[in-house]
Amino acid sequence: MNETNFTNKVLNAIQYVVDIKEVKRPVHLHEPYFNDTNSWKYVKDCLDTGWVSSAGSWVNLFEKKLCELTGSPFTVSVSNGTVALRLALYVLGVNSGDEVIIPPLSFVATANAVAHLGATPHFVDIDKDNLGLCAKSLKHRLDKIGLKKNGLTFNKQTGKRIAAVIPVHVFGMPANMPEIVEVLKEWNIPIIEDAAEALGSFLNYGDKKIHCGLMGDLGTLSFNGNKIITTGGGGALLIKKKSLAEKIKHISTTAKIPHLWNYDHDEIGWNDRLPNLNAALGCAQLEDLQSRLEKKSLLSKSYFEVFKEIKEVEFIRDNTKNISNHWLSTIRLLDNDIDQVKEKRNSLLNSAFSKKIYLRPAWRPLHLLPMYRNSPKGDLSVIKDQEFRLINLPSSPQII
Ligand SMILES: *Cc1c(COP(=O)(O)O)cnc(C)c1O
Repeated sequence: MNETNFTNKVLNAIQYVVDIKEVKRPVHLHEPYFNDTNSWKYVKDCLDTGWVSSAGSWVNLFEKKLCELTGSPFTVSVSNGTVALRLALYVLGVNSGDEVIIPPLSFVATANAVAHLGATPHFVDIDKDNLGLCAKSLKHRLDKIGLKKNGLTFNKQTGKRIAAVIPVHVFGMPANMPEIVEVLKEWNIPIIEDAAEALGSFLNYGDKKIHCGLMGDLGTLSFNGNKIITTGGGGALLIKKKSLAEKIKHISTTAKIPHLWNYDHDEIGWNDRLPNLNAALGCAQLEDLQSRLEKKSLLSKSYFEVFKEIKEVEFIRDNTKNISNHWLSTIRLLDNDIDQVKEKRNSLLNSAFSKKIYLRPAWRPLHLLPMYRNSPKGDLSVIKDQEFRLINLPSSPQII
């Protein structure tokens, strides 16, 4: 049968690259890795000294190392990537009743962070090549619905302010930030880059390499268990302006006014800080980042080579000079007939799961989730076509 044939070809290709022995299964999509790192040593230091909670030297060191690695002037580490997004939106002035433009292809956290502040996500289509927010669709949408008033931009159909845009660097591939920034200049809308998946990914910009998250006003990272490095749970903000860094530190630290013994708070803050325990783990994981990036690049190259032979499939590669961290390797099913695509996809996923090789379809597009079904949206023909075509492959660096 057609699907069976196809399924076998794809699974054979994966097994050729990953050299999966029965004993090595299950093969997860992306697993945390602690062997050969200082994880135990650094976490033990927290236990030995009693510094386990939301202050301590590992937090400071983790933030310093993130600055060095990314080139960000400031970073604030927080309890997860969703919180990082919510804080970024908050300090840039996003409020209840606003709209925030996001792409429909992302983890649900991107939309949720907007909704947590009482704002509404407004969906604009993706770029087929890098799977991030499409600059042309963004321009087209703003030209159609944008209305400038007193230096701000409003949606003339809903009357709501468009208070921010969140491009996402999907699966570690940099979105087309230079064009997105160019489009938004005209509209004076702040940009938050969701770089949750993109630690170690850089944009090629002129003769410079700029880490993802540093072309907009703020960038956010996640260190969840499935990301390239993990702190157990955690996130961070990449910040260029000192005033914003101070504001974020303050509001994420219960808005406590620093003092030797006084407990004084000057606004309603959050308790969003990253505990020292998690930061210690993060420091150990960061020491292994370079090696992970190299392994993931090799894994991606190897997948690319084997999938060249399968004509029904395209291995997705960023053809720009940008540098991806190759967080998740991804194939695209190419059949013209979308019903064929769905059948092949389902057959492949079912068969892979029964063999304990955990492939994953791309996320359900956010505009189709019940809580975001009525959100404003532009023309979404690219995501509608791509939804069933995208399949993530096992991508842990330790499998190659
Ligand atoms: C993981 C992820 C987040 C959220 O991070 P958490 O640490 O899980 O809260 C946000 N956006 C994207 C694109 C992600 O992949």
